[in-house]
Amino acid sequence: MRESSPNHRSSAIPRSDTNDSSWRNELRGAYRDVDALLDDLGLTQADLPEPIDPKSSFAFLVPRAFVSRMKPGDPGDPLLMQVLPLLRERDDDARLTGDPLEESSFVHGPLISKYQGRVLVVATGACMVNCRYCFRRSFPYSNHVASPEALEAGLAALVEHSPLEEVILSGGDPWVLDDSRLAELVEVVERVAAPRSVRFHTRVPIVLPSRVTDALLEVLSGSRCGVVVVVHVNHANEIDDDVMAALARLKPACRALLNQSVLLRGVNDSAAALMALSWRLHEAGVQPYYLHLTDPVEGSGHFQVDAERGRDVIAEMARQMPGYLVPRLVREDPGAESKTPL
Ligand SMILES: *Cc1c(COP(=O)(O)O)cnc(C)c1O
Ligand code: SF4
Repeated sequence: MRESSPNHRSSAIPRSDTNDSSWRNELRGAYRDVDALLDDLGLTQADLPEPIDPKSSFAFLVPRAFVSRMKPGDPGDPLLMQVLPLLRERDDDARLTGDPLEESSFVHGPLISKYQGRVLVVATGACMVNCRYCFRRSFPYSNHVASPEALEAGLAALVEHSPLEEVILSGGDPWVLDDSRLAELVEVVERVAAPRSVRFHTRVPIVLPSRVTDALLEVLSGSRCGVVVVVHVNHANEIDDDVMAALARLKPACRALLNQSVLLRGVNDSAAALMALSWRLHEAGVQPYYLHLTDPVEGSGHFQVDAERGRDVIAEMARQMPGYLVPRLVREDPGAESKTPL
């Protein structure tokens, strides 16, 4: 599996050579079994500092393209840490809940309407990777996924009261959907809400770069609104040459190409790790946007970094690098009118 070792490829060609069926096939080959992944990294459960949860309710799912960037033989690899289902996820912690953002009160069908002028669309509940720290793990998706009809009805009801400047297609991960479904959703957004900008929140170009096909780029380029894409990278090692090439293809189709990260203990909670990430993003033409503190969601307690440590790390970054490479450290507080800057 390691034939495509990262960072040692000839120069990237910004042209997709994959199509719909090839990324679907690639996704079908993703790891769904912890031992199989460990085995391919030359590890066993005995090498891990902590026991695995064999029966986690949040499924194990990791595409091979993402695993190819993990270091063989390293049980502490920062990419591996993000996907391993540890028994510790079951630890009781009174601060953690299933709905940390109290989102259920802002949900109207497939829409989450919390902030002025923007609305977030739950385009699908699915993702191409299951990140253990994710707040999504306990959201009741099956009730809220956007069909074009539900999206149309929800948007129409919203714009009756106030205009929308931006519609955000999120999830789950909207780029799990077929291009035809994405095109339909974008068409509904433009026709019903006519926003200035359509934004996508996606981790797909990072975990399965072959998904950035010409057909997907056509959907983006075909939009009459300004397209904004916010990818999700937590560690510099996540960006290999294939991801670089996918981002290079994506960039011309976007008015802005941004990144959000989550501050994760043991993964990226040092100024050195985050500076390496910012420089790597810069090389890829991606602007650092947010660095989120983890939401207090059940199962993610072992990733939590406190706000004070987050501030120290950001201050250190600000001392050492250009201001435009320092992400905004934020927390989401239930009921607040925006993300809370720290
Ligand atoms: C984060 C978020 C947004 C977008 O916020 P920005 O600060 O504009 O990036 C919009 N809606 C919801 C529900 C969100 O969680
Ligand atoms: S929503 Fe994003 S962070 Fe959560 S599991 Fe999906 S890809 Fe990972």
